Amino acid sequence: MSQYDFDLFVIGGGSGGVRAGRIAAGHGARVAVAEEYRYGGTCVIRGCVPKKLLVYGSEFSHAFEDAAGFGWTVPPARFDWATMIANKDKEIGRLEKIYRGLFENAGAKTFDGRAALKDAHTVAIGETTVTAETILIATGGRPTKPAIPGAELMISSNEAFHLPALPKRVVVIGGGYIACEFAGIFNGFGSQVTQLYRGEQILRGFDADIRSHLAGELVKSGIDLRVKIDVTAVEKVAGGLLVHLTDGSSLEADCVMAATGRQPNTDGLGLEAVGVKTDADGAVVVDEYSRSSIGNIYAVGDVTNRINLTPVAIREGHAFADTVFGKKPRKADHTDVPAAVFSQPPVGTVGLSEEAARKAYGEVDIYRTTFRPMRATISGRDERILMKLVVDARSDRVIGAHMVGPEAGEIIQGLAIAIKAKATKADFDATVGIHPTAAEEFVTLREKVREPVKA
Ligand code: NDP
Repeated sequence: MSQYDFDLFVIGGGSGGVRAGRIAAGHGARVAVAEEYRYGGTCVIRGCVPKKLLVYGSEFSHAFEDAAGFGWTVPPARFDWATMIANKDKEIGRLEKIYRGLFENAGAKTFDGRAALKDAHTVAIGETTVTAETILIATGGRPTKPAIPGAELMISSNEAFHLPALPKRVVVIGGGYIACEFAGIFNGFGSQVTQLYRGEQILRGFDADIRSHLAGELVKSGIDLRVKIDVTAVEKVAGGLLVHLTDGSSLEADCVMAATGRQPNTDGLGLEAVGVKTDADGAVVVDEYSRSSIGNIYAVGDVTNRINLTPVAIREGHAFADTVFGKKPRKADHTDVPAAVFSQPPVGTVGLSEEAARKAYGEVDIYRTTFRPMRATISGRDERILMKLVVDARSDRVIGAHMVGPEAGEIIQGLAIAIKAKATKADFDATVGIHPTAAEEFVTLREKVREPVKA
């Protein structure tokens, strides 16, 4: 019998923590978890899931518009924010119960409260103190706001899910995932949206063609997207908020949303006193096995600020549990992780951008197409899809696939398997398309768009 109360204590009941605790329990470990708020973490409670529900809700406005070209007469549609939010909350409540149940059914003990380390094997949850042989930090991250006057008047994505009413005029600050997604959500529901990005082009780090194509589509969808501009201050004025910009101009808004990044939740965890190293952003520094600088303390998910995506956190948690409790040491694989931005239209991406591929491989072949989706021919919507393949010229391997257009996430998920399996461009060419789909374009791209550039 171990000298400790538990074999594993998990701090944080989000995606990474739940998977790790459940798998460790399956390997026979005595597991406990502390969660201070609601089970499910960012993804289920205030991230991926409620966001996607809002995306679905807001997309109906485009469908109503498109229907006319197909012969439908749609009476002026009215949208009720309160109904959307109540139904979304009901679904989140259902999922939260499932998440908590996953732990309890696995035989883990749950503590409802905030946990902090007392020493490398002791955790305090309020007045209660327990010991564990291994501790897993899975506390996730939280949104940050720019440090400018009036920041307290801004909302973050956390509050966006619970606004009392749909704001008429919204300013979204940022050019990342969350900014592009919420600009689309508010725009779809009928708010007047201005998205402000400080850099040259939104979605820094993504393929340049994807960035500029999406920016164009966002503008066509009605978002007032402005780049190379930032907010200097927000002030309360009669009738709303006044947003001051770096070019000296100002904008009136009812809601200002900062989507300016997230930071790891490591404050007040007692990490410093125990000797767990964190980096300049406050993230727990871990090795490939998610082990921190203290041998029995591990960390997974956004708190480690590696790739901040739910499926990655889940894999890190699973690999940790197999390594430490399953006698199967393995690392989470962080290569070729596909991702989607649920903007309207969405972006799907896997592997390297053209720019990153040229740096890593030197010679690359690029295949690219833009076209009008078939649905838009009759609906009349001014919309174009972009698809792009990046191919290593030497091996013929497809090392990047990117798309902007309807169902981009669904389509790229399939291509991600091909890329993981190291498919070549010849394999893509040998694959028969499904007609008529947009996705078939990925197997019918024949013309290189640029000559390979020597490294
Ligand atoms: P990102 O890091 O993706 O984007 C932050 C944006 O805010 C960037 O455009 C950044 O500009 C800008 N920014 C940062 N600081 C400031 C500032 N002080 N003033 C003005 N602009 C600023 O963060 P998000 O918050 O959008 O998302 C966080 C992470 O969560 C993502 O990176 C992703 O890993 C994950 N996520 C994934 C989703 C998905 O899979 N669909 C959805 C939502 C989040 P710059 O480029 O110049 O740094």
